[in-house]
Amino acid sequence: MHPKLDYHMTTEEFRKAGKEVVDWIADYYDWVESQPVVPAVEPGDILAQLPPLPPQKGEPFGRVMSDVDALIMPGITHWQSPNFFAYFPSNTSFPSILGEMVSAGLGVQGMVWKTSPSCTELETLVMDWVVDLLGLPARFLSTGSGGGVIHDTASSAVLCAMLAARERITKGSGNAKGVPANLVAYTSTQAHSSVQKAARIAGIGDENLRLVDVDASFAMDPAALRRAIQEDLAAGKTPFFICATVGTTSSLAMDPIQAISDVLDESVWLHIDAAMAGSAAVCPEFRDMHAGIEGADSYCFNPHKWLFTNFDCSCFFVADRNALIGALSILPEYLRTAEHAAGAIDYRDWQVPLGRRFRALKLWFVIRHYGAEGLQSHVRQHIELAKEFERWVAESDQFDLVVKRSLNTVCFADKRGDQATKAILDKVNASGKLFASHTKLNDRYTIRMMVGQRTTELRHVRTAWERFSEAASEYRKG
Ligand SMILES: *Cc1c(COP(=O)(O)O)cnc(C)c1O
Repeated sequence: MHPKLDYHMTTEEFRKAGKEVVDWIADYYDWVESQPVVPAVEPGDILAQLPPLPPQKGEPFGRVMSDVDALIMPGITHWQSPNFFAYFPSNTSFPSILGEMVSAGLGVQGMVWKTSPSCTELETLVMDWVVDLLGLPARFLSTGSGGGVIHDTASSAVLCAMLAARERITKGSGNAKGVPANLVAYTSTQAHSSVQKAARIAGIGDENLRLVDVDASFAMDPAALRRAIQEDLAAGKTPFFICATVGTTSSLAMDPIQAISDVLDESVWLHIDAAMAGSAAVCPEFRDMHAGIEGADSYCFNPHKWLFTNFDCSCFFVADRNALIGALSILPEYLRTAEHAAGAIDYRDWQVPLGRRFRALKLWFVIRHYGAEGLQSHVRQHIELAKEFERWVAESDQFDLVVKRSLNTVCFADKRGDQATKAILDKVNASGKLFASHTKLNDRYTIRMMVGQRTTELRHVRTAWERFSEAASEYRKG
């Protein structure tokens, strides 16, 4: 007997299995609505069902898929359910999934222009399209001194922005000699934890990150920022970076970019984290949140949250690409190309990893499928649904709006206090009929309803409201 040499799935087998998987995904979208959004499993339950060792002999694909159904699906949190209102929507769409399939099918590495010219050039084009779609300043276009790049996440984007800022202020000596201890960065108390993580990774340190106070709407207070900067300057510190948030994680509060930028000296790098809310700028009527953005050095938002593009896809723009490249580029001989020398974009210099996926495809598929008009229409519908929900809360005698609705996010709490609010949220989530999450605002336990799933309609939001109201009435009785 000759040993078997070819273990690969054949093209014919792939053709058949691939079609089955597409059907499987389509079926999933048909039944996901009927499922409890959060699975009723305990830590370790899924693992305990799976074989601890890998198979010695390969198995037929059908067996793998039946294990997906039997062993994996019971532990899936259904982010694509129309009843998912927690954290942030991580929405997707069929055009996006198809773009992801093509990207996986091509399996290219787009680290430098030469390793796949289309991967680089389509990304450059799509990012320029996004500038137009969101009405962002022309300084972020690749045709000028700036440009955009697709990162995995907003966390990577804020880190790269901070590194570029660090090297700009130290004229490259941060990289060469280490980070001076007098650099200070600013963000608000409501900023995402990724800013603090970036400060750690960039060698700035927790103690050199100022968390600036916010006003009653949870937006950064520019007067408090001015005071913090003055104190730091008086103490011999060097302010070099600020991250303003357009749409904070807890309540989607909007830091006032214009007023913040008025406080800053040109040497301070202004990064805008619009990870969640940025998508709303596809609609001109929501672009007020970007007022003053012309003064920003960098900007980031996540189409993988609210623009129908599956994770991961985070758009990061800089006004001066040389500042970013200067901080991150290291050119070993094996990556040297004539095209790079002639000025072609090598996106490896715009990010932390070397390797990169062809993410632009899925975003290109999405934008071409929906058009600006389609994206606007769906974002508007989500905001209208949140507006309805806000009205019900405002009219109820059970709940308070903890803060005014921002775009698609409603923050509310039971009038009787934290214990009631928490009990109500736990009860509603345990029903499996929907999933919402919580935060604390001014120390008040608060339920966050964020509307943004592709398939969410009025009936889902109405049912959610009915569940909250029922749970509140029952809590009163209990
Ligand atoms: C979601 C979110 C982030 C983090 O996003 P990742 O892409 O997962 O890193 C950062 N900032 C804000 C405002 C967010 O909403």
